[in-house]
Amino acid sequence: MIISTLGSHSSLQILHGAKKDGFKTAVVSDKNRENFYRRFSFIDEIRSYDNLDKAVDLINKNDEETIFIPHGSLIEYLGMDRVKKIRTPIFGNRNLFEWESNQHKKMSLLKMAEIKIPESFESPEDVDRLVIVKLPGAKGGKGYFIAKNKEEVKEGLSKLLSAKLIKSADEVIIQEYIIGIPMYFQFFYSPVFKRVEITGMDLRYESNVDGLRRLPTNVIDVEPTFVVAGNIPVVARESLLPKAFEYAENFVNAVNERIPPGMIGPFCLESVVTDNLDIVVFEFSGRIVAGTNLYVEGSPYSWLYWDEPMSVGRRIAREIKIAKLENKLGEITT
Ligand code: AMP
Repeated sequence: MIISTLGSHSSLQILHGAKKDGFKTAVVSDKNRENFYRRFSFIDEIRSYDNLDKAVDLINKNDEETIFIPHGSLIEYLGMDRVKKIRTPIFGNRNLFEWESNQHKKMSLLKMAEIKIPESFESPEDVDRLVIVKLPGAKGGKGYFIAKNKEEVKEGLSKLLSAKLIKSADEVIIQEYIIGIPMYFQFFYSPVFKRVEITGMDLRYESNVDGLRRLPTNVIDVEPTFVVAGNIPVVARESLLPKAFEYAENFVNAVNERIPPGMIGPFCLESVVTDNLDIVVFEFSGRIVAGTNLYVEGSPYSWLYWDEPMSVGRRIAREIKIAKLENKLGEITT
């Protein structure tokens, strides 16, 4: 049996984990990165593409029993139309992709899960507080801007339109800006064990917003931007964890009720923790997030379930291994 993924994002972690749990591994890689992936002994096969349609053909190459692992960059790289052409079984619920790629649907799912979310504003006219204006898709924060009032929202939107970063103002989401510490809670839902595990947590390091505090406020006069440059490990105060778990379980229940066949595998609740210790979730990812790359040897949380190094990549492989043994592959793939 082969575990394959697209070369980028968390593919090294995924394939490293798959190898540790005894699988053959394959990476579907841009031809220009072939040389890079060749350096890693845990990758058995490199399938290179020179155009994105070819990438889909290679993902669909299924001569031995293959399971494809989608990660956070899949849709950004291939586009939704190509992703829909993937026929190889994927680990996870492919019906969730549609929800993830639409900011409005995304927030509505969190709301249905009774998770605390920031206020959203339908129109710039309604804006009555500090907001962040966000572009569609996983752009790593690129193009996002902060606005203090409706005039600044309108001004920012017309800049995005003239720079052709968006086609229409409906594509963006205007969200209340929550002041606090951004914390990304990484979870894994196991259909085999029927439980939610916390696999890790990270802070994102974003340019330039995280750099601004290095300079005294009287010498800078620049707008903050939110381009993700890296991830920093973090553990939360333990008293935050019960709420984080409640939200994670609510999220799994909401997916199970509305998006068949339900939640499978890794997801992340992207949150801001406020000074009264509220967790406000402004975004989720229904797949493995890049912040898990911090924990190739396991995180302070994964050790609580597994007395061995357990990355999320390896956790995925473990789920597949156990599901196969118990004849449950159909429950963890779509
Ligand atoms: P996202 O693309 O939604 O993950 O957002 C990128 C970054 O923008 C986050 O990591 C946060 O730093 C910031 N951000 C997004 N939404 C909010 C919000 N509602 N309040 C505060 N910061 C936010």
